[in-house]
Amino acid sequence: MIYNLGSINADHVYRLAHLPAPGETLAAQTYAVGLGGKGANQSVAIARAGGSVRHIGAIGPDGRWMVDRLAAAGVDCSAVADADAASGHAIINVDDAGENAIVIYPGANRALGADHVRQALAQAGAGDTLILQNETACQVEAARFAQEQGLFVVYSAAPFEAEAVRAVLPYLSLLIVNEVEAAQLCSEMNGTLADLPVENVLVTLGAKGAAWYDTARGHEIRVAGFPVKAVDTTGAGDTYAGYLVAALAEGLAVKEAMRLAGAAAAIKVTRPGTADVIPTRVEVDDFLA
Ligand code: ATP
Repeated sequence: MIYNLGSINADHVYRLAHLPAPGETLAAQTYAVGLGGKGANQSVAIARAGGSVRHIGAIGPDGRWMVDRLAAAGVDCSAVADADAASGHAIINVDDAGENAIVIYPGANRALGADHVRQALAQAGAGDTLILQNETACQVEAARFAQEQGLFVVYSAAPFEAEAVRAVLPYLSLLIVNEVEAAQLCSEMNGTLADLPVENVLVTLGAKGAAWYDTARGHEIRVAGFPVKAVDTTGAGDTYAGYLVAALAEGLAVKEAMRLAGAAAAIKVTRPGTADVIPTRVEVDDFLA
């Protein structure tokens, strides 16, 4: 089983002629609401990859539709708690030039208690995986507990905060960062990726693909990006992380898992949207055939 301690957000997307200036009131041209949050996106990616995923999270009274959406994608939502807070949401303003300005309200995502997380992981053990990001509460407690239980612990370090990464690092089997986050982390820690106190680091490199560093053995595996016409890269990182974790849990070798994840993310960037357009395993296998 893959456990995902992850955020669940409603993404409210407004298209505007320009981004509002301080004090300005603007009418939006279009409005759409969808399921978002890095956690939810990654759970959908894991499920589409064919993995068994149980989402550990929380919603407010206004969030039932999001759980229904996750469940419809094949995600086990039995460990999603009802919190006494508004559901997490994002206000996403996008202007005609494609520039955006985003406000995130963490809400219920930050209302999760350590007891709930520990209870959700109580039956987990060796052979299981925990993936987490930086949009919920209790990451350190969850990672530490999971490591003690013998799980493979993966941290997708976004949104990036050096302090949060540093706190969780000792309990990880695999750290996933993008190129910018990797550079930030190295400068914060005053060293290179090889110096990090974590066995494995996966760096996503946008169109260039990804690199896996085995820090203990000083070994690097690179898989080039697939050439596609990108129209929307939102959610590429989450698609990659979800597919990678599902493939590793399935027992694929690192290089094969990276190839699958890279293909899934490449398909995603050819499609506008996020969770709803993450490709299925059949689509990814066809792309690679
Ligand atoms: P985002 O925040 O947009 O979700 P990210 O910054 O976390 O993304 P990236 O490194 O940009 O992560 O992309 C993740 C993966 O998606 C890459 O490793 C690559 O496999 C794939 N990818 C991203 N952009 C492209 C592209 N233009 N063409 C092909 N593959 C891409």
